Amino acid sequence: MVGHGEPRAIGHGIASKDVGVDCSHRVSGKTVDEVLKKATEHARKDHNIKRVTKDYLDSWRKKIHDE
Ligand SMILES: [Zn+2]
Repeated sequence: MVGHGEPRAIGHGIASKDVGVDCSHRVSGKTVDEVLKKATEHARKDHNIKRVTKDYLDSWRKKIHDE
């Protein structure tokens, strides 16, 4: 149901689990780009992914969901 012209108060999110990583961390943001940026930082710090390539970003982008 869409009500009264208010913007939907949702953002986007992704969890490490969503991409098959055994980790309970999740990131969220207002925009997909924000989510990807946070996911990149998390991957670097906590998953030792030194270079987050475009392939990573493309595959993550597909898994991001509304929330
Ligand atoms: Zn993680």
